[in-house]
Amino acid sequence: THFGFKTVPEGQKESLVRGVFSNVASSYDVMNDVMSMGIHRIWKDHFVSRLDPGRRPGSEPLSFLDVAGGTGDVAFKILEHASKTHGDRQSFMNVVDINPEMLAEGEKRARSETPYFDENRISFKVQNGETLDAIPDNSQDLYTVAFGIRNFTNIPKALETAHRVLKPGGVFACLEFSRVDNVVLDQFYEFYSFNVIPVMGQLIANDRDSYQYLVESIKNFPEQEKFAQMIKEAGFTLSGPGYENLTFGVAAMHVGVKL
Ligand code: SAM
Repeated sequence: THFGFKTVPEGQKESLVRGVFSNVASSYDVMNDVMSMGIHRIWKDHFVSRLDPGRRPGSEPLSFLDVAGGTGDVAFKILEHASKTHGDRQSFMNVVDINPEMLAEGEKRARSETPYFDENRISFKVQNGETLDAIPDNSQDLYTVAFGIRNFTNIPKALETAHRVLKPGGVFACLEFSRVDNVVLDQFYEFYSFNVIPVMGQLIANDRDSYQYLVESIKNFPEQEKFAQMIKEAGFTLSGPGYENLTFGVAAMHVGVKL
């Protein structure tokens, strides 16, 4: 069966997305490598070092929120950066995701591959990024979402919710696939996305449809300028254009501050 996502009624997108990530939860880390040819690791490192998260001398421990945190990649990198760069072992990471299987994988990794679980520095909670029901208003210092927001049904609502949960002065940061701004690379990218990735999805995960969906979701996500505008409309203040292209715009990092 082919999902035909563009014609899926609004109300069904959420359950389809849930299915996609349930199907890929265990092979997820491999899939990320396939989708980005391994470059997602570099992008995530860049994203975290640009944000430079961590408690500064004389201030309270911070509360981090990683939305659509999946298997914990970005959350772990943030805690690692806080520890190594700022000697911060007290700030707390809330990882949330709509999919319990992804979170279970993340929690397993947190226990076996990191010290954070034992040190009580991380929690995992099932939450829809559009509502974040369990996250109080004005409670977070940093909101991150990496390769997640394009899967949300109602992106403006998710941005309003991000604004709601951040403290004044809090930072919203998004890392997402975006629009390639190089003609040659764009042609290669189109071919790779629509021809190579679904086939690799079939070979690696025996799941062509989920990978096909991922490719289409990238295509349907608003381009850099448009997304920056949406962040602004949710009440955030941008500095400069509000985004930075990574690898010619294959991915982009957007940042907004709640003033
Ligand atoms: N942030 C992780 C990373 O960069 O490795 C995971 C990214 S993964 C491509 C996308 C994640 O978005 C999945 O774990 C999926 O369950 C989650 N997701 C999709 N829709 C969501 C929603 N409405 N609320 C919260 N999470 C959602």
